[in-house]
Amino acid sequence: MNDQQLLRYSRHILLEQIGIEGQQRLLDARVLIIGLGGLGSPAALYLAASGVGQLTLCDHDTVELSNLQRQIIHRSSAIGLPKVGSAQAALQDINPEVECIALAVRADAGQLAELVAGADTVLDCSDNFATRYAVNRACLAQRKPLVSGAAIKFDGQVAVFDFRRADASCYNCLFPEDSLAAELRCATTGVFAPLVGIIGTLQAAEALKLLAGIERGLSGKLLTIDALDMNIMRSNLSKDPACSICGNSF
Ligand SMILES: [Zn+2]
Repeated sequence: MNDQQLLRYSRHILLEQIGIEGQQRLLDARVLIIGLGGLGSPAALYLAASGVGQLTLCDHDTVELSNLQRQIIHRSSAIGLPKVGSAQAALQDINPEVECIALAVRADAGQLAELVAGADTVLDCSDNFATRYAVNRACLAQRKPLVSGAAIKFDGQVAVFDFRRADASCYNCLFPEDSLAAELRCATTGVFAPLVGIIGTLQAAEALKLLAGIERGLSGKLLTIDALDMNIMRSNLSKDPACSICGNSF
């Protein structure tokens, strides 16, 4: 690290759990962020500000007026532009040292496999079950840690599936694909703006710890937030031996 970097990251370096070594790990790290909406916005901002070396941003959508209530990485001037381009500009402005790769695509299984293979940690900031199952499969196959987040109305959740561990449960253990209730989308049901900020920020926090080698946090746990009563609960996740996705993988 040069003097500018030592200064920029000094408040992380001062933390005994991070220090020079942990900060260097962040600078060397590559993170894949799926979705640059309500969750991906704060997550990407904190990862870039923290100096994560490479961020790959994946989202096929463009910025709309109704996004701006909560997707805080985007500005009014970006309406109509691809979300990944808008996000990339904001991130480079905060920290020009971060390499930002903007992919305005809806990644299919083959592309996801390739993108996950090139990442140290994956953040699922998407807003639909199809993407969540596809990302879960890709991370399990490549044994890459997955930080999953979701938020709807006033309810949010974060879970970390560290597939480097043989006993890790997966997203499908938690929400089996074949027993799904009807999908709720914030486009039709609404979502409380700061809730996505809280959830996305928690995703960034968990990712930074995974990357820095801090083995504490939500690995193997599910954190749920009811933002009306502001009730936060943490529970253990257990691997379902009969899970159709990870049951026979190890
Ligand atoms: Zn499973």
